[in-house]
Amino acid sequence: MQEREYDIVIIGSGAGGGAAAKELAPLCADGVKIAVLEMGAKLKEEEYTGREVEMSRRLYIDSGGTLTKDRAMTLAYGRAYGGSTVVYTGTSLTMPEEVVERWNVPGLEYEDLHRRSVKYLEENNVHLLPEDELNDNNRLFLKGCTKLGYHVEQFPINTKGCLSSSLCNLGCPNQAKQGTHRVQLPQAEAEGVEVITNCRVTRIEDRVCETVVTDPGFGEPSPWAPGEYRVKAKVVVVCAGGAVNSAALLLRSGFGERLPNLGRYITLHPALILVGEHDRPITNFYGHPKSYYCDEFWKSDAFLLETCMYFPFVTAKNLIGFGAEHSELMRAFPRLQMILVLALDPAIADNRVTVDSAGEPVVDYTLTEGVLDTLHASMLASTRVFFAAGAKRVHAPAATNFFIDAADAGRIDELIPRSNVLPGKISITSAHLMGGCRMGRDPGDSVTDGWGRVHGTPWLYVADSSLFPQCSEINPYVTVMGLADRVAEGIRTNAGELLA
Ligand SMILES: Cc1cc2nc3c(=O)[nH]c(=O)nc-3n(C[C@H](O)[C@H](O)[C@H](O)COP(=O)(O)OP(=O)(O)OC[C@H]3O[C@@H](n4cnc5c(N)ncnc54)[C@H](O)[C@@H]3O)c2cc1C
Ligand code: SF4
Repeated sequence: MQEREYDIVIIGSGAGGGAAAKELAPLCADGVKIAVLEMGAKLKEEEYTGREVEMSRRLYIDSGGTLTKDRAMTLAYGRAYGGSTVVYTGTSLTMPEEVVERWNVPGLEYEDLHRRSVKYLEENNVHLLPEDELNDNNRLFLKGCTKLGYHVEQFPINTKGCLSSSLCNLGCPNQAKQGTHRVQLPQAEAEGVEVITNCRVTRIEDRVCETVVTDPGFGEPSPWAPGEYRVKAKVVVVCAGGAVNSAALLLRSGFGERLPNLGRYITLHPALILVGEHDRPITNFYGHPKSYYCDEFWKSDAFLLETCMYFPFVTAKNLIGFGAEHSELMRAFPRLQMILVLALDPAIADNRVTVDSAGEPVVDYTLTEGVLDTLHASMLASTRVFFAAGAKRVHAPAATNFFIDAADAGRIDELIPRSNVLPGKISITSAHLMGGCRMGRDPGDSVTDGWGRVHGTPWLYVADSSLFPQCSEINPYVTVMGLADRVAEGIRTNAGELLA
């Protein structure tokens, strides 16, 4: 077992860890030693191949197919230098004021979070794509929604020199997407922060992180040789392993005994992928994949509709059924329009992360009847959008038939019955994992205070999506960065007291 010592140790390098590292990096000029411990690899540029199965294995935990305990949902989240920002789509929204009010975290004001979030919009080159760069998949969504009178907005996205390869969720091969691996981490390293890749923290005990460094056989070699290390943080440990892994790490480190809410109140924005087939080829796998969202039902039915484009394996997995019809639809891939549905799920104490006997995370999440109602309503709305956009037939996961033909567009309510929306019977997924170390007042209602400091442990902070007390109700990464920015400021403010 080898020993290492730093002043500040950050666990994880995604949206939260990357932002925290960059914000704390100026302390290096005063001699403060900072390390980021990241269990994923830093890929070499030539290793971003865009091949679906290969990239999923390299960049996602469980290749993007982690199952919830009841096996009703799959979860996708990243493991890499840059975390999930390497595989996210890069849609960049700030959280609405009313959601911050619903969160009701003591000391967390909308203006403060918004100001910090806007800083990252600028840092990440967030902008709207010009109209001539929008592909058919996105134009058809706009057309369908507009025809139905649904409110649509264009997504701001964070690219620089986008070459329209549509491979965002497999890691951008063109260095265009501005994740923490392109922006915040290189800046932090330039200022003196050390990033140790392939380095998994297994346990935290009294400011010491027990870690294992491995060689995955791809990516840049880790700065440390494979083996076990005890990494001491003289001042502060910042946990930024993401919603599932931060809670799991703290649980297996024994913090659950005095923090009854640790791991609880997980929310997932349960998602469905629906496809509509057109009678002509459309550009769907060329162009930026996500340009529009529809918030018509955000308040009334708690869901968002977004454009999306998934690759053959993910698309095939998300269709219901198999055999000839499934194969027929997959052969129509170049004619498919796709919509992603996001349900805005309530934060419930029993939806939680636990750890199994080996200390590995288990996501114990039950879809409520209310969320199933929402998914049903979202399927009806999406099907209407496809037909309004001119699709000749639609595949909706809970429909009585594999295809709904345009001639039956008037019978959508009857053909997609609520009774068919059952966990385990339709393919539900999630890429927005939130909660588990929620902010709040005290250990009775939360895990950290409004600055991410763990109740009762002044040297331990959380700076990632696990801080969310409820779901963000919009795509979350900008909010994760805004919160990490606050956490870093809290650490800088307390640095004198902590370093003494
Ligand atoms: C496919 C996909 C598309 C998405 N698209 C969007 C989008 O368009 N817009 C948006 O706003 N959001 C999007 N998201 C969500 C967004 O990426 C996340 O909300 C955000 O990255 C969460 O930040 P985080 O810091 O909490 O975790 P992550 O970014 O997931 O980073 C956590 C990091 O910690 C590391 N880690 C975990 N445990 C340990 C440990 N024990 N030791 C060492 N390292 C550890 C992990 O390897 C990982 O790299 C998407 C997510 C996915 C998966
Ligand atoms: S669409 Fe743009 S950002 Fe996405 S992978 Fe291609 S070049 Fe990168």
